[in-house]
Amino acid sequence: MTTKPGKIGIVGSGFVGATAAYAMVMRGVGREIILVDLNQARAEAEADDIRHAVPFAHPINVHAGEYADLTGCRVVVITAGVNQKPDETRLQLLERNAKVFRQVVPSVLKYAPEAVLVVATNPVDVTTHLTARYAAEFGVPSSRVVGSGTTLDTARFRTLLGRKLGVDARHCHAYVVGEHGDSEVLTWSQVTIGGLSLDEYCHQQAIEFGAAERAAIDRQVRNAAYSIIKGKGATYYGIGSALANIVQVILNDRRAILTVCTPKAKVAGVEDVTVAQVHLVGGDGVIATFPQGLNDEENGQLHRSASIVKRAIESIGA
Ligand code: ADP
Repeated sequence: MTTKPGKIGIVGSGFVGATAAYAMVMRGVGREIILVDLNQARAEAEADDIRHAVPFAHPINVHAGEYADLTGCRVVVITAGVNQKPDETRLQLLERNAKVFRQVVPSVLKYAPEAVLVVATNPVDVTTHLTARYAAEFGVPSSRVVGSGTTLDTARFRTLLGRKLGVDARHCHAYVVGEHGDSEVLTWSQVTIGGLSLDEYCHQQAIEFGAAERAAIDRQVRNAAYSIIKGKGATYYGIGSALANIVQVILNDRRAILTVCTPKAKVAGVEDVTVAQVHLVGGDGVIATFPQGLNDEENGQLHRSASIVKRAIESIGA
């Protein structure tokens, strides 16, 4: 069985899945997008609506379908699941979404056994771990299972740094690693601007950037989802765009550096766990994981974060 180079499946065409499809159409990612959902009427309605945007964007064939229509997909994005409610932590979603994945992953691989699987359902570290476990039953290597991880948190971190430093965020290199959630780790020691460390850059540019301001950025990155959910009930534009970017990286074999998550034998001393790290990503998924040279405090935070995810994985016996 061979894949079609520009064929993308999205399973779960709710807010995140549909917005990811829309972002792909706006950016010209792929040639064909198939939306699959338990609620077929919703998938058809979203596909129709997004198709009406095509004449204003890129010529991509968007339609709803069934699992069998995923045949030949190069990438399948999984956004199926139940939504996070206000004040509900991501880990509380776990039990409900684990059941969804037990059903969705085999259904996808039955028809698209060669696809790279991109997972975004929260808690994403755990659902990615589960996806890799279920996909292994079909002989899929874990490197072909890519969770959205902290790609969005990293984008938020870089945006806030860019604003503070007066530099285009694309040139502020900084990473958020660990759980996509409360225990995530902003790796301040690794921030570089034009090859300079953050301290060196601030010194040269005479910018005051004390502990209180760093703590404020940390809070904004860590709590962004909570405040958005409080205001509008869900988050989807940011994650939809992050997913379109991940899919583009895979389709174009772009070898981008992204803080996605994929199962690892050991992270900061925690065995067999899935949390975001700095990865090289290409056409077959995760190519390499970079050791970051974190300082002791950050390493301790990453250990704690990975332990939290590990406990969540174990709590459902996965
Ligand atoms: P989010 O904001 O995370 O996108 P939504 O609730 O809007 O959350 O979307 C989740 C989608 O996943 C819904 O459209 C729902 O019908 C779908 N879904 C739930 N369970 C399954 C399943 N087992 N297979 C396919 N789709 C599913």
